[in-house]
This record gives sequence, C-alpha cells and structure tokens, in this order.
Amino acid sequence: MFMSTKKHANLTPSLIEYCFNHPSQVVFETTEKCNLACRYCTFRELYSHKHARGLDRLISMDINTADILLDYYLNLWKHKNYSQKEVYVSFYGGEPLMNFGLIKHVVEKIVKQENELHIIPIFSMTTNATLLERNLEFFVNHKFRLLISLDGDFEGNSLRVFGNNKANSFSSVFNTALKIKKEFPDYYKENVSFNAVLHNKNGLDKLILFFEKELEKEPLFSPISDIEINENFKEEFESMQISFQQATQEATEECAQKLWDKYMHNNPYVTQLTSHIFNNSGNVYKDLNSLMLGESIKEGAFPSGTCLPFTKKVFLTARGLILPCERISHNNCLGRIENNHLEISFEQIANIYNGYYKKLSSQCVRCDYKQACLHCVFQDDQFRESGKCISFSTNKKVEELYKQILLSHPSIYQRIMNETVIK
Ligand code: SF4
Ligand code: SF4
Repeated sequence: MFMSTKKHANLTPSLIEYCFNHPSQVVFETTEKCNLACRYCTFRELYSHKHARGLDRLISMDINTADILLDYYLNLWKHKNYSQKEVYVSFYGGEPLMNFGLIKHVVEKIVKQENELHIIPIFSMTTNATLLERNLEFFVNHKFRLLISLDGDFEGNSLRVFGNNKANSFSSVFNTALKIKKEFPDYYKENVSFNAVLHNKNGLDKLILFFEKELEKEPLFSPISDIEINENFKEEFESMQISFQQATQEATEECAQKLWDKYMHNNPYVTQLTSHIFNNSGNVYKDLNSLMLGESIKEGAFPSGTCLPFTKKVFLTARGLILPCERISHNNCLGRIENNHLEISFEQIANIYNGYYKKLSSQCVRCDYKQACLHCVFQDDQFRESGKCISFSTNKKVEELYKQILLSHPSIYQRIMNETVIK
C-alpha cells in the first residue's frame, strides 16, 4: 500500500458554482410529514434533534418554492452545451406521497418542456409505499425508479408502524409490491428496489431470504443511524441496533459469503476498500464532471470524508433550505429560497468549507483513513466545532484490514475494478 503526502486543496467559488449548476440529482423534500412512526426514524424521539423542527410542527413544501428551484434548472437544462446528460429528479420526505400534488406538478412541468431540454430527466422516489397504490399508474407511466422501505417479513418489519394506530405496515407494503410485480412485471424488474434497515427484529439471513424468495429482489440494507442519539432513549437504541459487523457474525456461512459476492456493493468493508484503491490509483474520477474539472475535484484532495458541495446532489427541504444532501441537519444549509428568490453565495460556501479544511487538515493528513474516509464534518457537531475526530487513527490497523480482506477474498479486487460505480 502506498501513502500520499498531498496537502489539501482550496475550494473555489467557481468550482462550487459549477457543481451547483450541473447536479446529477435534484431532490425535493416534498413534505416533512409521514404517516408511519418507525421506532428508529431519525426525525423522532430516538434522536436529539438539536436543530430540529419538532414532531408537531411539520410542514409540506409549497409549489412556489419548488418552482423557483425547478425554473432555475429548467433554464440551464435548455442550454445546448449543457454537459450533464442524465439528471435524477427525486422526491423524498417524510413520506413524499403525503404531498403527491407537488410531485405531479414538478413531473408534469418537466415533461411538458422535455423537447426543449438537453438532459434526460430520470424520476425517482424513496417511499414507504403505503400510499402508492392510489397513484400507481402515474409512477409506472413516468418510469419512476422507486426505492421502497421494507424491513423484511411481518416480524422483521415490526418497527415500521403506522402513526395513528401503531399497526405494522408490512401487509400494506408487501401487497402493493406484489401488485406491481404482477400487473407491471417489466416495470417492477427494472425500476423497483428495496431498502431495509438492520435491527434486532430481522437479521441478514431472514432479510435476504425473504426478499429473494417472496419478492425476487436483492435488497439494500444499512444499520440504524447512530448519529446524535437522544441520551434519554439510549437504552432503547442499544436494544434495537445491530452493527453490520454483528449482523455478519450472526449470519450463516452461506449468507456471510453472499456479502462478499452478490451483495458486495452493500458491504461497508468493500465500500471503504474501494475508496482506498480508487483514491490511491490517482486516475479514477467519479463522473464526467469530475474528469473535466481535473485534479481539483479528485477524492482525497480534501480532508475528511465530507463530499464536495453539490457533487452528490442538490437537496431542497420543505422549508426552502438548500443542502448538499438529506442526511445532515438544517443548520448546515448552504442557500435558501426566500422572498421568491434563490439565495446562494458560492463565495460564502467556499469560505465555510475551506475553514473546516484548515481546521481538520493537520489531523487528516496523518490519519490512516485519509484515502477512504467516510466521516462527514456535517454529521458530527463536535468534530466540526473542535476539529477533533473520534475516528482518527495512526496504528495502521486499517491497512492490515485491507490486506486481510484482499487475501481472504482474492477475487474482490478484480470485481471492484470491473464493476464499481461510486454513488
Ligand atoms: S452526509 Fe456528508 S458526505 Fe455524505 S452526502 Fe451528505 S454532506 Fe456529503
Ligand atoms: S477519520 Fe477523521 S481524522 Fe481520519 S481522515 Fe477521516 S476525518 Fe480525518
């Protein structure tokens, strides 16, 4: 393994502006409201909500707010030489279907102007699917890529309950999935995927078996978030939470093998190893924009695992705030829709990021994780304020781990090189 001694680069306002104007994904948080009350939901009592909006004051996005950002991009997308060819237009919540009117408005506005656009819009939505059936044809007709949240069979899904009567949402979601599979088999095959959260009610074996057998799908899965846990609910969190490592240890040999094979792109060890290999290669770019922007945007040139602003997506919250993704709190907003205008200062954003880089760089440059860091400055208040990272390591254990992985799974390197698409 080889080490880089490169110091961090400086983020410029023009680079940020370029990324903002050429996003691969624009996401509308159609509403903060949800008809479910999943026990592990990051918007609920399990989390500390230091900057939160509270559960009783949730709002939905109004059409005017959506239109301001949408019109901004529609204008750009009409430029002949626009370089981004496919753009995901996505809907997120709360449960996005609780504001279906906004989804319909945005989609129909884009479709109406499609002939003038120099992009291919791809519509997508993350949903709990309990309200999907009533407008199913709309989503099928617009070839929506659907990511449905379901934690497995009835027992596995028992933490995903309705807000009004606390009943398990399993039957509603499962029946809708079966209906799509039966009535629109090609659409189902191409466009529907599932995301499951790992916890004490499911486990990898049961989860994988359920999805493969009952729904003929390979699910995505992830553990319950452990960021900003509410101290008063720590016990409940600990009783529910299962780390990926623990889930793997508890899995049968056959299932554990699948994590290095069929499900390798869902395996956090493989994700980290992939970053490490690509960042050390010096010639892998995440997308066409990165290649065109050259050295400055390469992963690893900037301290920590924080992505460069707007390289993953532009996320518009129901309150009109602009964020680099849905996983960070509102106090990290980088712009906003206010007084019927888009207000964003690329210079200010550059100053914010460069300030963090300055604070973090002396630590990150010495850290074993620096080529494969997944630690985002916006997800850790303490880290951001103090510049002290709890994951900092110089004991070379990470490199040892990579070596062990490569030795015990010799085909993994070839597969990473041949198959990986970084998201
Ligand atoms: S969590 Fe941080 S690194 Fe990840 S997409 Fe969001 S802003 Fe980027
Ligand atoms: S783990 Fe922490 S110290 Fe190490 S590179 Fe990532 S952010 Fe920097």
